[in-house]
Amino acid sequence: HIRVGVLALQGGFHEHLSLLHQAAQHLRSTADFSFIQVRTSDQLAACDALIIPGGESTTISLIAAQTDLLQNLRDFVKVQKKPTWGTCAGFILLSQRANATKKGGQELIGGLDVCVHRNHFGRQIESFEADLDLPFVPSPEKGEERRPFRGVFIRAPVVEEVLGGGEVEVLATLENRVDRMRAGQSQAQTRGGSGDIIAARQGNVLGMSFHPELTQDARIHQWWLSEVVARR
Ligand code: GLN
Repeated sequence: HIRVGVLALQGGFHEHLSLLHQAAQHLRSTADFSFIQVRTSDQLAACDALIIPGGESTTISLIAAQTDLLQNLRDFVKVQKKPTWGTCAGFILLSQRANATKKGGQELIGGLDVCVHRNHFGRQIESFEADLDLPFVPSPEKGEERRPFRGVFIRAPVVEEVLGGGEVEVLATLENRVDRMRAGQSQAQTRGGSGDIIAARQGNVLGMSFHPELTQDARIHQWWLSEVVARR
């Protein structure tokens, strides 16, 4: 049995939970899963793997720091090395460093040796969606076409600098964007440079700039759950 938690202090935790349920149904695996909301250190201790949703990273870390949860999250990720996946704000929290914090520093969990640039693409109004061709999205069934994954970028971070001894794997950049040249969309109208890193992994820790939880597409959740099973 594998218990997967979703950090439920703020942000898109309901959305992640519903996609996890969807993904588990499609997964050809004998593992049986349960999915829980995590608000306390006791709940965290009961988990084999964790998702940290998108939302607002400063808010999430301030709430976590009010109890021993923040410290226990660091332990979960970096000492126990349990599989942990962060999307958007969750990605920021799992980074070693974050830049462009208006009101100064924020407490991070760490685990990924990267420095992220928060709100890389600008303000809320500059949020965008883009079709992505991601190497980790499971291959289509026989006879089905490979569909792009809709990337939802809301005040999204990107990796500004990879730190440390080369343990960080870059999984996707904006090169993986397939809609860049689509009719009517000139290069200038699309956001970001193609080298911008939007997905990275270091051992048990995975981060993504965009929000799979804000789509109805459970393919990345499916892939991640299969990785969680494989790491056992
Ligand atoms: N920019 C936000 C932050 O700093 C993250 C945005 C998001 O998760 N949609 O936390």
